[in-house]
Amino acid sequence: MNRENLQEWIRRNFVPVIAGTAIALILFLGIRYIVNLLNRPAPAPAKPAHEKAEDPDAIHYLVVHHSVSGWGSGAAVVEWHTGPPPHRNWDLPGYHAVIGNGYPTKEAWKKRAYDPSEDGKVDRIVSESLRVNGVRFGNKNALQVCLIGDLDRRDPTEKQMAALINLLTHWCIKYGLDPRTAILGHGEMQERIGLEGYSKTCPGKRVDMDAVRAAVLTKVIQRLLPRGMQR
Ligand SMILES: [Zn+2]
Repeated sequence: MNRENLQEWIRRNFVPVIAGTAIALILFLGIRYIVNLLNRPAPAPAKPAHEKAEDPDAIHYLVVHHSVSGWGSGAAVVEWHTGPPPHRNWDLPGYHAVIGNGYPTKEAWKKRAYDPSEDGKVDRIVSESLRVNGVRFGNKNALQVCLIGDLDRRDPTEKQMAALINLLTHWCIKYGLDPRTAILGHGEMQERIGLEGYSKTCPGKRVDMDAVRAAVLTKVIQRLLPRGMQR
């Protein structure tokens, strides 16, 4: 085969194959490009406001305590928790609210000088925007309320329970909480967290937390009904 014949052979046999391959490749890549373009996911729509990332400091729990003392008040708790030793010397008291039992001071308790205006009185001692040291490992998303009394040994007063149920109802509505899951006794909260022993009976064996949750649920439903249907 001489040189001219070889060139002629290449022109006839190779050029069409290479040209055909190039055209096929261009077509293939072009189609792939179009398919990819069509399959590209649509950009995600902006999330509606209620699906925005949850506030890490949001309130999820309402924790109930007792003071394990015969007497007390908001002022007494502030002293017990933030006073210098032998008090606890904390920066803030451990509860947002304290509910009196009619004996605000040691003297009143010693003399059994019951003051009805102090029974069921709610003292707000810390802003709800702050978190306080009520439950170890469980303060970040909780509000804390303390009933004055040693409620392992004595019943809470009727006025205390009425005030507690009112306050918890107010908080459930304000923070959009379900009373059945948001309200916990200190011991229940501790058990749920599971990082400490489950020894705490707080808020006391004489406080029926299931009854508290049920009473708050009834009250929340009542308050959310249209005015004409409220009892
Ligand atoms: Zn407690």
